[in-house]
Formats: sequence, C-alpha cells, structure tokens
Amino acid sequence: DPRLQGISNAIRVVPHFPKPGIMFQDITTLLLNHKAFKDAVDIFVDRYRHMNISVVAGVEARGFMFGPSIALAIGAKFVPLSKPGTLPDNAMMCVQNHFPSPYFGEQIGTVEKNRLLLDKSYSTVSKLPSEVISEDYVLEYGTDRLEMHVNAVLPGERALVFDDLVATGGTLSAAIRLLERAGAEVVECACVIGLPVVEEQCRLNGKPLYILVEPR
Ligand code: 5GP
Repeated sequence: DPRLQGISNAIRVVPHFPKPGIMFQDITTLLLNHKAFKDAVDIFVDRYRHMNISVVAGVEARGFMFGPSIALAIGAKFVPLSKPGTLPDNAMMCVQNHFPSPYFGEQIGTVEKNRLLLDKSYSTVSKLPSEVISEDYVLEYGTDRLEMHVNAVLPGERALVFDDLVATGGTLSAAIRLLERAGAEVVECACVIGLPVVEEQCRLNGKPLYILVEPR
C-alpha cells in the first residue's frame, strides 16, 4: 500500500524519551499531517467496516486519538480503556480542597493539621467516574492497570481493540481479558506501529494483531 510510507514518515522518533535509551515513536506528528492521519484511519476503516464490529475499545491515551474516528466510520461505539491516574505530589492539597465530595464520603486517609494524608491504596485514582472492572498487567518495572466501565460492553458484542503501538503485547492482552470478562468477542487488535514478529507471535491470547508500520 503506497500510503504506508507516508504514514511511517509522519511518525517522529524522539530519542531518550521517557528514559535514556528509548527511541520513542511519537504519533502526535502523524496527527498533525492531515493526509497521513486520514490515510491511517482510512486503512483501518476499510479493513473493519464489514466485520460486524460493534465496539472499538481504545487504550488510554493514544488509543483515544484514533479509536473514535474508526468507530464512527464503521458504525461502532467507542469504549475507553483507562489507566488509573497517579496522584501528584500536591495531591494532599487537591484532595483537601475538594474533600470529601470526589470520594463519596469514603475514608481515604487521615486529616492532620489541616492536611489529608492519603492511605496508600488511594495513591492512584480511577479516571472513570462510574463502576469499573479492571485488569492488572506487568510492565518492565512494576505493574499497570486498565479499567473499563461496567456495562459499556454487552455480552456477545464483537470488539476491535486499538492502541497506537504494540511492544510486548502486555497492554493489549490486558485489554482482551477485560473485554472477554465483559462477555465480548475480541475480533482483532490493531495498532499503528509494531514489529512483524509481534504480529505473528501469540502473546495476545491467540487473537490476531494487525499493524500498519514498523517502528522507525
Ligand atoms: P506493550 O504493553 O505492548 O509492551 O507496550 C505498548 C504500550 O506502551 C502502548 O500503550 C504504547 O502506547 C506504549 N508505548 C511504549 N513505547 C512506545 C513508543 O515508543 N511510542 C508510543 N507512542 N507508545 C509507546
């Protein structure tokens, strides 16, 4: 497909982000390039429009930048798969200012001298406001979590899972587990960027993976 070279060229490589040694594949420059952005969305839409997909589930944050466009064009709904937020260093002040309304009166810590000291289990908070189901997955250092609103996906729905980039497949595997727990059938996972070896290997719970271009 002659469009793929233009898509690849529109991705910027940022060396040593977010840590030394990492060549970060930056898709924000693809979003700046109307032709390349549209070509990427069009290729996914052409692939998925006749697959009877009713849900596009996008992984925060960069899966949110492509998923809704694809969902609208193929007649599907979009479901965000969110990562819990880590409270910043000044969280004690933020929480104190709003206390207790964002936490629905739950005991989340102790107040000492006008400061709220958070219990450890509250050092991350969900960004989704209603009831969620969640899946933890292992990263190179530590773990992360994906969350999805209960009832966003109904049993028997056919889902496409979307993220900007696949590396080990850990994130997509957690996304698949979430959707399957909700009773959905994951038809395929799709990413803009990935290695062909990852596309062929089976870390994705046996689900097919479709990628547009290799890392630059
Ligand atoms: P995996 O779980 O497959 O090991 O890692 C994929 C996740 O890491 C994706 O959510 C992706 O957004 C993020 N990621 C890792 N490296 C990069 C990178 O170089 N560029 C971008 N855009 N995302 C990355």
